[in-house]
Amino acid sequence: MQNSEEIWRLVDKHQDDLIALSDRVWEIPELCYTEFKSCAEHTVMLEAKGFRVTKNVAGIPTAVMGEAGEGGPVIGILGEYDALPGLSQEAGVAEPKPLPGPGFGHGCGHNLLGSASLLAATAVKDWLAANGIKGRVRYYGCPAEEGGAAKGFMARAGAFSDVDIAISWHPSSFSGVNPAQSLANTRIDFSFTGRASHAAASPHLGRSALDALELMSVGVNYMREHMPSDARVHAAILDAGGVAPNVVQAFAKVRYLIRATNLPDLSRLIERVRKIADGAALMTETTVTSQVVSAVSNLLANTPLERAMQDNLERLGPPPFDDADRKTAAEFQATLTDEDIEASYRRAGVPVRPNTPLCDLIIPADAKPGGGIGSTDVGDVSWVVPTVQARGATYAVGTPGHSWQLTAQGKLPAAHKGLVHVAKVMAGTAVDAIQDETLRARAKADHAARVGKTPYVCPLPADLEPPIKMSA
Ligand SMILES: [Zn+2]
Repeated sequence: MQNSEEIWRLVDKHQDDLIALSDRVWEIPELCYTEFKSCAEHTVMLEAKGFRVTKNVAGIPTAVMGEAGEGGPVIGILGEYDALPGLSQEAGVAEPKPLPGPGFGHGCGHNLLGSASLLAATAVKDWLAANGIKGRVRYYGCPAEEGGAAKGFMARAGAFSDVDIAISWHPSSFSGVNPAQSLANTRIDFSFTGRASHAAASPHLGRSALDALELMSVGVNYMREHMPSDARVHAAILDAGGVAPNVVQAFAKVRYLIRATNLPDLSRLIERVRKIADGAALMTETTVTSQVVSAVSNLLANTPLERAMQDNLERLGPPPFDDADRKTAAEFQATLTDEDIEASYRRAGVPVRPNTPLCDLIIPADAKPGGGIGSTDVGDVSWVVPTVQARGATYAVGTPGHSWQLTAQGKLPAAHKGLVHVAKVMAGTAVDAIQDETLRARAKADHAARVGKTPYVCPLPADLEPPIKMSA
C-alpha cells in the first residue's frame, strides 16, 4: 500500500482512536433507531476531534452530524452504526458461538462503517486546517440503515441540501468503487382483522385473519412469475393471531418488503401487492389496513466521482493484509461453501482467484458486477447530492452479508486494516473534490443529467415520521 500523500498520513495519525471506536461499537450492538450508546460514542469522538456537533439531526435522536472548516465546498462523509438481530457472535472465532444477551450483532460491519467514515472526515478536517483551504467537511452519523431508511428521512428534512459531494463506503470482500446498483424498496405492514370464534363449535361464525394472511402469501407467490426479474418480494409474519389453534384468529399482521430497480417499477409492484391484500380480505370476509414503515430509492451513479475514487484506490493499492490475516481469513473461508466464494467474485465482476482468503487487488474500473443486489438508504442521498461509495475489504472473500462469520470478523486486525485503508480512499477522494473545482462541476453535471428526466420524489409518504420507536 502506498502512503505517500499528506492526507493518507493524516488518516494514520488518528487511526488508533477510530479503530478503538469501531471495537467499542462492535461491543454494544444496537438495532434500528435505538443506537443510543453507539451514537453517543460517535458524538464524543466528534467533540474530541474538534468538530462542531449537531445532535438530533432531522429529529432523530440517534442521528448526529459534525462539521469542520469554513466556507468553500461542503463534503459529506456518511457513516452508520446499527446492528442486526440474530447475529450475535464471539469475536474472532470461526465457528457459530453466540454471546449471551439479546442476540444482536454487527453482521453487516456497520461498526467499521461509521468509524472509517469518521476517520476520513477527521483527516480531511486536519488537512483543511493545515493547508488553510476554504472548505467544510461533515461527518453524518446515520442510524437505522437496516430497515429504517434514516437517510431518506434525513434527506427529506433537508439534512444534505447544502452538501456538494457525498462519500461513503461499505464493508466487503473486495476493495474497489461500489457499483451504483441497488434496489428501491419499501416495507409495508398489512393488518387483517376478522372475527374470533370457537374453531370447532362455531367455525362458521368466525372469519380468520390468519387465513387472509396465508391467501395473501399465495397470491404474492403467484405474482412472482409475472414481475420484473430483478424485483424481489419478501415477507415476515409479525403476528399470526395467537397460539390457540381452537380460536379462529381475529387478527394477523404481516410485513412485506418489496424491491424493484427503480421507483416507478416499485410503485407498480406495490399496487399489485395491495390488490392481492384486498383480494385476500374479500375472500375471507375480513378487513385489511396497511401502513408504510420505510422506503428507499435506488442508487444513482456518478461517473466523475467514481473515476476520482478509482484513481485514489489504484494509487493506494490493496489493503496491507499479512500472512497472519490470511491464515485467520482462511479459517473463516473453511466455514463457507465454494458457491459462497464464487458468488462473491461474480458479484465483484472478477474471475475467481484460488487460495486467496483476503482481497489482494483493486477491482478494475471495467469489471462487470453480476447479481446480488440489495438496497441501501444511501440511495436517497444519491438523488439529492452527487454521491460515490467505496467498498472496502474487511473480511474473508466470500463471507456472506448478514452472517455470523461477518460479525465474528468485525474486530480482527484485517478489519482494522481495511477500515484505515478505506478511510484513505474516502479522504483522498474528498481532498480531490475540494481541490478540483472542475471535478465538482463535472460531478454536478453528471448528477443533473441522471436526475433530469425523473426528478427526485422521496418515496416516504409525506405524513410518515421516522419510526423512532421501532426496534427488531
Ligand atoms: Zn450494511
